[in-house]
Amino acid sequence: MDFNEKVILVTGAARGIGRACAEAFARLGGKVAVHYHTSRSAAQQLVEALPGNGHRAFSADLSDPAACQRLIDEVIRDYGRLDVLVNNAGIYEVKPLKESGYADWQATWRSTLGTNLIAPANLCFLAAQVMMKQNRGHIINISSRGAFRGEPDAPAYGAAKAGLNQLSQSLAWALAQYNIFVGVVAPGFVRTDMTTSLLDGPGGDAIRKQSPLNRVATVEEIAEAVVRLAADGMLSATGCILDLN
Ligand code: NAP
Repeated sequence: MDFNEKVILVTGAARGIGRACAEAFARLGGKVAVHYHTSRSAAQQLVEALPGNGHRAFSADLSDPAACQRLIDEVIRDYGRLDVLVNNAGIYEVKPLKESGYADWQATWRSTLGTNLIAPANLCFLAAQVMMKQNRGHIINISSRGAFRGEPDAPAYGAAKAGLNQLSQSLAWALAQYNIFVGVVAPGFVRTDMTTSLLDGPGGDAIRKQSPLNRVATVEEIAEAVVRLAADGMLSATGCILDLN
């Protein structure tokens, strides 16, 4: 795998799975556009620490469609091209039905769909405009096991990720004629800020037992799957969903 001279935009790259993806692409020669929302200093430290050169940090609240447009415009202004988009940024809001008020319920659905489904859809649209002109590109969307198995305490999250799977498969059809690959990596539990309290809580061992490995995945393992899908030579896997469970 060689990402030399390739430009890779990773959303939510300052920490967690996104950070591991940024590190993996940089190790393979890519120039990484490190997107962040609130983790400004972590993003800037990452840009300085990544191997190679040409890495830059970009800020955007992706729940705002205008900010998605500004982000892609800034990446193209700085680099002139976009080879890989990794839609990784996401939120996980616990909102059990029986403990929610109606207004509360609606607010969670709006914010979760806005960040986890509509933002990636907008970035796919904007990146595709660039990639269609290039007649090449890769889009990798980070989904979740919850898309298949349900999320009883976070139904908006499960629904958003199921939507992201279907968005990806629809776009795989629509964009194949432009040599644009669209694929999905759907992790189960991974140790990041999103899951630390669950994994360190009383249910942690039960979660680990859900895997035949008796552990959760590492961020490096998820990043490995992402770079493999984003590498040249995988076009016939377009539309695939890698279920890392
Ligand atoms: P994390 O550590 O909680 O990080 C979330 C990332 O999303 C942060 O980089 C954050 O940016 C960014 N983000 C959140 N809201 C945003 C917004 N409105 N605009 C822009 N960026 C925003 O999460 P993670 O565990 O690494 O998860 C990454 C992806 O993997 C998510 O899509 C998640 O659903 C998926 N996933 C995770 C697991 C797991 O077990 N961890 C399992 C399955 C799927 P800032 O920090 O800069 O604000």
